[in-house]
Amino acid sequence: MQEALNAQINAELWSAYLYLSMSLDASVKGYKGIANWFAVQFKEEQDHAQIFMNYILSRGGQVKLAPLDAVQNEWETPAAMFNDTLTHERKVTAMIDNLCRIADEERDFATANKLIWFVNEQVEEEENARDILDQLHMVEGSRMGLYMIDKELGARVYAAPAGVEE
Ligand code: MG
Repeated sequence: MQEALNAQINAELWSAYLYLSMSLDASVKGYKGIANWFAVQFKEEQDHAQIFMNYILSRGGQVKLAPLDAVQNEWETPAAMFNDTLTHERKVTAMIDNLCRIADEERDFATANKLIWFVNEQVEEEENARDILDQLHMVEGSRMGLYMIDKELGARVYAAPAGVEE
C-alpha cells in the first residue's frame, strides 16, 4: 500500500508540473484567464500530493520522492490543453480506483477511508475539464467566445482543500 501511495504522490506532483506547464504556455499566448485557471490547478495538485504525504507520515510510513517525467511545453489551442487535461484526469481516476482496490485487498480500512475524498475529487476534476472543453467547442472559431471564456476562467480563486494542513 505504501509503495502505491508513493507512486500516487509522484503522479499528483506530475499533474502539478503538467498544469504549471499549461499555465505558462497560456500566459505566453496571452490567455491570462486560462493561465490563472491552470495556476490554481497547479496548486491543487500540490495539495493532493501533500495530503498523501501527510497521510503516510501520520501512519508512521516513509515518503519517497521519485524523479518527475518531462512534460509537454506547448499546446496548439486552449481546447487541446483541456482535452489533454480531461484525458489525464481520467488516468488519475483509474489510479485512484486502483488504490481503492489495493486498500480493499489489504483490508486497509483507514486508507480506504482516506481515498474516498479523492474518489469524489476525481468526479469533480473530470466534470470541470469536460465542462470547459464543451464551452470551448461551443465557441469554436469565435474570438469573442474565446475571450469570454478566458475572462471567466480568470475568476477562479484558489482555496486549500480540507485536510491539507493536518
Ligand atoms: Mg490530483
